[in-house]
Formats: sequence, structure tokens, C-alpha cells
Amino acid sequence: MLTGIQIVLAGGDARQLEVIGRLTELDASVTISGFDRLDTSFPGVTKAEWTPEVLQNADALLLPAVGTDDEGTISAVFTDRELKLTDAHVAAMPKTCKIYCGMAKPYLRKLCEKHRVELIELFERDDVAIYNSIPTAEGAVMMAIQNTDITIHGSVCMVLGLGRTGLTLARTLQGLGAKVKAGVRREDSFARAFEMGFEPFYMPDLARQSGNIDLLFNTIPTMIVTAQVIAQLPLRACIIDLASKPGGTDFRFAEKRGIKAILAPGLPGIVAPKTAGRIIANSLTQIILEDKGQRGSAP
Ligand code: NAP
Repeated sequence: MLTGIQIVLAGGDARQLEVIGRLTELDASVTISGFDRLDTSFPGVTKAEWTPEVLQNADALLLPAVGTDDEGTISAVFTDRELKLTDAHVAAMPKTCKIYCGMAKPYLRKLCEKHRVELIELFERDDVAIYNSIPTAEGAVMMAIQNTDITIHGSVCMVLGLGRTGLTLARTLQGLGAKVKAGVRREDSFARAFEMGFEPFYMPDLARQSGNIDLLFNTIPTMIVTAQVIAQLPLRACIIDLASKPGGTDFRFAEKRGIKAILAPGLPGIVAPKTAGRIIANSLTQIILEDKGQRGSAP
């Protein structure tokens, strides 16, 4: 239980509703800012203005998936007001208070470093990234269906990067009956891809492997689908780039060649906000309970 733990949620989207529900179930003291347009009432939850004072006794501050933007703005879909995480907010927090978010931009990192406040980026954790890969893969399949006129079954799909997202996606595509080519850079990844029935290749071979592809999914967060690669793709190919912004595709050249290329960020929050919220809620409560010396449960 989280009895006596004070948690402030600032901004966010439908995922936060799941988090608020879970935290109150566990008896935490929850204060929310940036939810004034929200009709749902949460018994026992305090709605407060986003002032530094709201953080004075906090044990944890939960920010949205992308903590703040580069100017400190906290995205908040349930309010028309602008929420900003300022120096004054962080200075007002007790030194033991931790800030949680999905991933942080330099603005938030620098602010936490300056005030020596611990910052926890939940999406960096393996467990969270693996759980999140499930709605991400489903979202990628949705994008593929919406942007092609063929079935995934029988198509040739290429997945670049067999990390936490790529592996789940490759297996999902294979399960739907696609032939899956997997671009990797390590020998153990090559062996794993082979073992799983994919057609592995090493990344330096990417352009040569790109000649007969229907769908190309990129998960590598660096410029990898270059003009040289795009030049080899058939015109029917569709690129779905899942890597964090700005993605790993030369979108300008894809457009010039007439190849559809889509950057698809934040899929879990779009296709499955409830599940994505539960993943965040479980991870957050698990970390707080571990801090208290108790164990949490799996999602
Ligand atoms: P990950 O587990 O670290 O996987 C990244 C993969 O990229 C690894 O297989 C890594 O290879 C490979 N890689 C990295 N740099 C490379 C390079 N220069 N050349 C060849 N391969 C390279 O990360 P993840 O959790 O799967 O996330 C991947 C990306 O998707 C991130 O940008 C993440 O933010 C994003 N993401 C997007 C969504 C969405 O909704 N669109 C959802 C979740 C995650 P090694 O294994 O050899 O290191």
C-alpha cells in the first residue's frame, strides 16, 4: 500500500486516468494539476492549481510520457491552461521527492541536475519498454493496414533493429503471416533472428536487401533509412518509422521518390491508452513500493 505517500500528477493524457485510479486504490494521497476539463471524478483526489506550493510535501511528481518539451511545457490534454515546469517548482520540492516521466528532454534533465532531484525515465526500464512494445506493435500493424492496399499476410516486411520493440513487432508480423526480414548489427541478434524464423541480414547490407519490400518498419533511432536505401525500395513500399523523433528515415527523399513514409511516435498512448496507462501505473507503484521495501505486482 502507498498509505501516506504524496504523489502529484501534472498534465498528461488518458493514460494518467489509469494511473490516478491505481494510485488511489493503493491509498496514496494524490493531487492532480492540469485536469480542470476532466469530467470524471476521482474520490479522494485533490485538484490543485499548478503552483510551486503544490509540490512542497510531495514524495513523487509524475509528468507525462515526454516529461516536458524543450521550453519546460508539460503537455496536458485536460486543460486549456499552459503548464510549465519552472525552476521555482523544482526548487520547492523536498530533496527526497523524485520526478517520474516516460522519457526526458535536456530541459528536464538539466533542471533535475541543478536541483539534485532524482529523475526516473520509466521507458528506459527494460520491463516497461517490453510491456510497451505490445501496444506499439499493435499500433504499427494498424498503421500498416491503414496505409497499404495489401494484407500483411503474404507481404514482405522488413524490421530494422531487433531490440525490445523490433523483436515484438517482427514476431507479431510473422504471426500474421508476413515474411519478415530483420536488419541487425550483432551476431547474437542474427542468430536469434534465424532461430525465430526471420530472414536476418547485417545492416551494411541494407540497401541491397531493400529491393522487394512491401513494408519497412524502422526502430533504430539514428539516420538509417537513407536516400541510398530508399532509392532501392520499390515504389509500392511503405515506410513506418517507429524510432523516437526525428526518426531514422530521410523523409524528404522518400517524398521526392513518391514513397509513403510515416513517422509514428507515441503509438501506445494512441491505440491503447488504458493499457499504456496501466503499464506506467504498475511500474511507478512498483518503484515506489521497492523504495518502501515492498514488492509490487506485474501488470
Ligand atoms: P532498443 O531495445 O534499444 O532497440 C534499439 C535497436 O536498435 C537495438 O536492436 C539496437 O541494436 C539497434 N541499433 C541502435 N543503433 C543502431 C545502429 N547505429 N545500427 C544498427 N542498429 C542499431 O530500443 P526500443 O525500446 O526497441 O526502442 C526503439 C525506438 O523506438 C526508440 O527510439 C524508442 O524511443 C522508440 N519507441 C517508439 C514507440 C512508438 O510508439 N513509436 C514506442 C516505443 C519505443 P543492438 O541490439 O545491437 O544494440
